[in-house]
Amino acid sequence: MHFDLTDEQRAIQDTARRFAQNEIRPRVKEEGFKRDIVSKMGEMGFFACAFPANFGGTEAGFLAHSVVCEEISRADSGLRSLFNLQAMTVPYTMMEWGTPEVRSRYVEALNSGSRLGCTCFSEPNAGSDIASIETRIEDRGDHFLINGAKTWISNGTVAEFAVVYGTHDRSLKHKGLCAVVVETDQPGWMPRETPKLGDKSSPIAEITLENVKAPKENLLGEWGKGFVVAMTALDRGRISVSSGAVGLSQACLDASVEYAMQRVQFGKRIGEFQLVKGVIAEMVSLTEAARLLVRQGAWLNDMDRPFSREIATAKYFAGEVAAKVSGMAMEIHGGMGYSLEMPVERYYRDAKLYQVGEGAANIMRLLIADDALGIKKANRPRLHVSSDFRDLE
Ligand SMILES: Cc1cc2nc3c(=O)[nH]c(=O)nc-3n(C[C@H](O)[C@H](O)[C@H](O)COP(=O)(O)OP(=O)(O)OC[C@H]3O[C@@H](n4cnc5c(N)ncnc54)[C@H](O)[C@@H]3O)c2cc1C
Repeated sequence: MHFDLTDEQRAIQDTARRFAQNEIRPRVKEEGFKRDIVSKMGEMGFFACAFPANFGGTEAGFLAHSVVCEEISRADSGLRSLFNLQAMTVPYTMMEWGTPEVRSRYVEALNSGSRLGCTCFSEPNAGSDIASIETRIEDRGDHFLINGAKTWISNGTVAEFAVVYGTHDRSLKHKGLCAVVVETDQPGWMPRETPKLGDKSSPIAEITLENVKAPKENLLGEWGKGFVVAMTALDRGRISVSSGAVGLSQACLDASVEYAMQRVQFGKRIGEFQLVKGVIAEMVSLTEAARLLVRQGAWLNDMDRPFSREIATAKYFAGEVAAKVSGMAMEIHGGMGYSLEMPVERYYRDAKLYQVGEGAANIMRLLIADDALGIKKANRPRLHVSSDFRDLE
């Protein structure tokens, strides 16, 4: 076992770090969606790490994807949120479960950043409990007809297409779920922006779907087997999310070290006080431990090995660390932590998302504990989809 990044992964890390420094940091206080930066990230190949070359990918792998997400999040956690949609839960799910038409129409467009996607699980009455999704997908012979309501959809106001999860029969619970790709430029697709605490570079919407249509070839996986599609999509999304949590924790540490070494009280820099050192030491240890767990999960993907348990553990721990470490950064900054002049108030607001999205902390804990107790193994074969599509044209 060794922990070094390869030369290629280090080069990608340097490129992402430089991009974050030159293109993202100067505009970090500008709230709202920054389409031009997203396009540039696409052109740089940042979304394409995990994809084969014949679908516009760079074949750099999941660990490279994780490293890029970490660097982008270190500058702006909200822009990292885009990686879920442009690089994991939408295109990777299409690669694993989509028809040839879906793969060729959407995957490269997402990888290159030329078109935007979103993933629609959450609903007013179905958050953690995906099996209780109420959005209805009907098979109308030559097309699907979709009616329902979605909430908390990242990219919801800007996405040009969406992976929509719905049910053909609510009484079947998870056995009735289906996943369908939907174009959003139709009259029945009605998004409305949702104001929120943080993650300001990532627009969120609640969406009403009224008689929205999708062609039959847009079904992902099999009719009524959408729950498995959802579980694999969430697994991949957790790589991006947990990497973002590590990047945000690193940003908290960076800011705290800088502040502790320049703020003077009682005739000393505050970083020289043992109690402040204790906080810094904990921030370093938690951030590095989270990074190792996250990279383990990403590396298992590169090895094409089961990873659901490991990435759930990583996502849970990294999310808790981001929330804790952002609070510690606020503590070290004293009153300035509360000021809009310093970045840490933004880190504090953005960190909370990492305990919610892509499976709330409690849901991760249930998954981890059920596995440990032998109640339900997390790395079951049906949740591991082989990446044999790499050989496809
Ligand atoms: C900024 C942001 C972006 C998002 N982006 C998207 C997106 O792009 N697409 C999308 O579909 N969704 C998205 N979401 C929604 C997100 O996935 C959900 O918020 C999350 O799954 C939790 O669902 P919920 O909010 O309905 O909470 P609930 O499921 O109602 O949970 C509320 C609380 O109860 C706890 N809880 C629930 N069930 C249990 C249980 N069985 N045991 C113990 N505790 C439990 C949870 O851990 C949580 O603490 C986003 C959310 C946010 C905040």
